[in-house]
Amino acid sequence: MGSSDQIGTLTDAAAPAIVGHWIGGRQVDAAGERSAEVFNPASGELARRVPLGGAVEVDAAVRAAAEAFPAWAATPPLRRARVMFRFKDLVERHSAELAALITSEHGKVFTDAEGEVTRGLEVVEFACGIPQLLKGEFSEQVGPGIDLYSVRQPLGVCVGITPFNFPVMVPMWMFPMAIACGNTFVLKPSERDPSASLMLARLLKEAGLPDGVFNVVQGDREAVDALLGHPQVAAVSFVGSTPIARHIHDTAAANGKRVQALGGAKNHMVVMPDADLDQAVDALIGAAYGSAGERCMAISVAVAVGEVADALVDRLAQRVPQIRVADGMDPAAEMGPLVTRAHCDKVRNYVDAGVAEGATLVVDGRDLVVPGREGGFFLGGCLFDHVRPGMRIHSEEIFGPVLCVVRAADFEEALALVNGHEYGNGCAIFTRDGDAAREFANRVQVGMVGVNVPIPVPMAFHSFGGWKASLFGDHHMHGPEGVRFYTRNKAVTQRWPKGIRAGASFVMPTLG
Ligand code: NAD
Repeated sequence: MGSSDQIGTLTDAAAPAIVGHWIGGRQVDAAGERSAEVFNPASGELARRVPLGGAVEVDAAVRAAAEAFPAWAATPPLRRARVMFRFKDLVERHSAELAALITSEHGKVFTDAEGEVTRGLEVVEFACGIPQLLKGEFSEQVGPGIDLYSVRQPLGVCVGITPFNFPVMVPMWMFPMAIACGNTFVLKPSERDPSASLMLARLLKEAGLPDGVFNVVQGDREAVDALLGHPQVAAVSFVGSTPIARHIHDTAAANGKRVQALGGAKNHMVVMPDADLDQAVDALIGAAYGSAGERCMAISVAVAVGEVADALVDRLAQRVPQIRVADGMDPAAEMGPLVTRAHCDKVRNYVDAGVAEGATLVVDGRDLVVPGREGGFFLGGCLFDHVRPGMRIHSEEIFGPVLCVVRAADFEEALALVNGHEYGNGCAIFTRDGDAAREFANRVQVGMVGVNVPIPVPMAFHSFGGWKASLFGDHHMHGPEGVRFYTRNKAVTQRWPKGIRAGASFVMPTLG
């Protein structure tokens, strides 16, 4: 493995032809033979290659992280927070570059990519408060001359395995919290859009993070399996599809590691007859087709309750074909391409399956061509009506610009439809009736609920996570649950023999 240190030339270094690993504070060029192609989804052209690391790279990264751990864990939280403050400033200054890098590999619209960076930064802002968040509990005089205190201590080497759809935000749900808590970290990004991870690594180094505290191993299943089996890995955070989430959870747990594994979704939005229809339609257009539907919190099912159905479908049918689909760097673009040709074909096949299953395809985006971008992985927005439970387009996650309308007779039927689904990530209700909204929020079996809010992603100071097949493990991401996941509790009961009780210090104590 060769190495090169390229801090300071972010624009050039941000997008090299070959994306490397980041181990022990420097870029490590690949030695192995396996690699994958990374495309620009808007043009369909090969943009660069990413090495697929294996046991050798994983071992080097985990060792670097394990070596860095004792000193970093012993670093006062205030100093760890100062690194986060500098990192926040650097990400802000380079946010346009990061966003452009996201768009060039993921395809999402540039302003949406900027929004992704901002949502990631909010977790860094939360992590800046780590001295306060790590304050323990103290009980004086639990027995004669005996005190009891509880502290939360870091775990060791933590691993993050992340999906393609948020190459900056999802890693930033994890590593700012893990690192601020005193852990060291190995990130295994998606092999489909790997470049942003290296830019984050460079910015962390520039922020003053000691070498080895943050590492990146590029790769696929082979790298993941090596991480799950590595004896020096203490905890695993995963975000991705449900079958892989289940595999990660079961394997990591069997290997004695702490694990949180967030999976796929099928988010329903219930539109009650009294809803503000303009607001509901706007919400559905943005939530179903934004980022080409490649969001775990996208709304993919609209549940039209009672007489609202015909009007809702009519308005959606007018709006969906008007969505401006273009290269994500085009300022006029509202929706970009899908991430790869294979994924685009998969989504198209789901649309074919919906037609074959008997749903009504009201808007068909399968033949869309973007002028000048004929090789891109584009699909126009698709709208289905009369979708029924049991159809694959309702039961399975499509992860593309396809909205299914299911008609329900009343509130109870709509609620049963949401609760009957395998997934429980997000959902929403649109209504003017506070009683219906409250009842829905109380009884729905879903982790994140919106009331007249279509994509209810919790802020960084709360925690993000779904229920049922959308999350395996106990802890949600970031916020208070992030602190709990990345630390473990220690309770100390202490009694001191009688001391000398003499001497004094006249200097203001400065412990930071
Ligand atoms: P994916 O499951 O294919 O990949 C996720 C990660 O797992 C990647 O790093 C990938 O390299 C790795 N991986 C893939 N196959 C593997 C295997 N067989 N063994 C071990 N590791 C493997 O997911 P994706 O297509 O990158 O992302 C889209 C999925 O992520 C969707 O299902 C979406 O709902 C989900 N997602 C969920 C959330 C959430 O918060 N619940 C957030 C974002 C995305």
